[in-house]
Amino acid sequence: MGERRAAPPADAANGRPLRFAVIGAGMAGILSAIKLEEAGFRDFTVYEKAERVGGTWRENTYPGLSCDVPSHLYSYSFELNPEWSHRFSPGREIQAYFESVARKHGVEGRTRFGDEVARCEFSGGRWRLETKSGHRDDADVVIAATGVLHHPNLPDIPGLDDFEGALFHSARWDHAVALDGRRIGVVGTGSTAVQIVSALADRAAKLVMFQRTAQWIMPQENPPFSDEEKAEFRRRPETLRGLHQNLSALFTTFSNGVVDAGSDQMKMIEAACLANLENSVRDPVLREKLRPSYRAACKRLVISPDFYHAIQKPAAELETAGIERVEARGVRTRDGRLHELDVLVLATGFRPDRFIRPTEVIGRGGVRLADVWAKRPIAYLSISVPGFPNLFMLNGPNGPVGNFSLIEVAELQFAYILQLVDPLRSGRCREISPSLEATQRFEAERVEAAKHTIWATGCRSWYLDDRGVPSSWPFSFDRFRAEMAKPKLEAYELG
Ligand code: NAP
Repeated sequence: MGERRAAPPADAANGRPLRFAVIGAGMAGILSAIKLEEAGFRDFTVYEKAERVGGTWRENTYPGLSCDVPSHLYSYSFELNPEWSHRFSPGREIQAYFESVARKHGVEGRTRFGDEVARCEFSGGRWRLETKSGHRDDADVVIAATGVLHHPNLPDIPGLDDFEGALFHSARWDHAVALDGRRIGVVGTGSTAVQIVSALADRAAKLVMFQRTAQWIMPQENPPFSDEEKAEFRRRPETLRGLHQNLSALFTTFSNGVVDAGSDQMKMIEAACLANLENSVRDPVLREKLRPSYRAACKRLVISPDFYHAIQKPAAELETAGIERVEARGVRTRDGRLHELDVLVLATGFRPDRFIRPTEVIGRGGVRLADVWAKRPIAYLSISVPGFPNLFMLNGPNGPVGNFSLIEVAELQFAYILQLVDPLRSGRCREISPSLEATQRFEAERVEAAKHTIWATGCRSWYLDDRGVPSSWPFSFDRFRAEMAKPKLEAYELG
């Protein structure tokens, strides 16, 4: 990106190029920088509060971390990677991938690291940004690439501060803490906890998983790619492209299934999970403890090749009595038992309703996003909010999260956003935002459709909003692709 290849396009209104601010240098922020450059926009800065790119893959470093979306799908379509080691590659390899793509495209040189955007105010037709260090910037367009599962959810378990051992959230792993031969507790049974327990069952002297709700576990082998396969991918990029397309088609089928609770895909998944439980867990008492009482895929489906194996190892214990409180020496369960521990890991998930917050965002007429979103976040097609012109979100509220590769989602969204920027670039308008009417109509239709999805079949999960309505894209993925292909400008106000 360093050198300037072409004359930047002029903004018809001012005779200067449009300026962009991208917030976040995770998967979606890196994508934004690359795609802005590709579209001929040269005047932009990426703001990143941490010191490195990578977002969730920078922050999550827990033992056993991997991505349960196949690596050849969880890749940028324009940077397919012949070197993936496994079908589901480990987290550190994914972080290295994002770092290498960012480096190759010069994204790091465009990024202001270690400076968090504290405030964005739309004033005089532009966004006025201020960072925590006091740096100021003006931009015509803000791209919020701030992630979804980013703010740790800390449980309100009494006594957490009393614990005398090491205690941390799974996304804040303390690598100074020894694990081998120690007594370790893990609170939670989500994708994170399952990966941690699978990784530590052979290392800990004692490993207690504190389960509040049992999870369905989808079996999935994770074979490595051989040297020959990788050589073939290197030699024949079309093989790699074909693999990416096939996986995308497979996930499209799954995504079209989750939005119809009665679909055959959901029945097949439940049958596979049930067979996994019946065939893998020998002890009938443990099997019953692990048996969920709700439908498979109602919560985010946990995919694991080895969890049932790990939880049956001698050091492992599944505790279902419920946590009464944490004490200096360990966790006291409701049956009065004290589990003495050296390390306690809170794999208790994230607050998925934050998005760009806590950044203070002030739109047209001094309206605060925090007020507009006081009940719950809404956005037109998960990308933009009425009254907040030229502000676009990637993986924003109520999008297709949890049932597809978020990379493909972000790529589709960014291509859509670029089309919304077109009228700004050509001078047709200086502000673009969705109309309140279009947003409310979309939201009403979305809420109605959400009631028929698998997520609404009676379980507690991070997909549900404060009313118990799934805060996710409830339509088919095909519809998402169709919506993202071309904006309906009649849903927008151009000013
Ligand atoms: P999660 O799915 O939200 O699970 C949180 C766990 O903590 C649940 O078991 C929950 O119990 C438990 N919990 C929360 N508060 C508790 C409390 N006060 N007392 C006892 N238990 C409590 O979080 P996660 O496992 O970190 O996963 C979040 C999402 O990240 C996943 O759904 C997935 O989308 C993503 N993820 C993906 C991968 C991947 O491989 N792609 C890996 C990790 C995470 P209840 O079930 O009873 O609420």
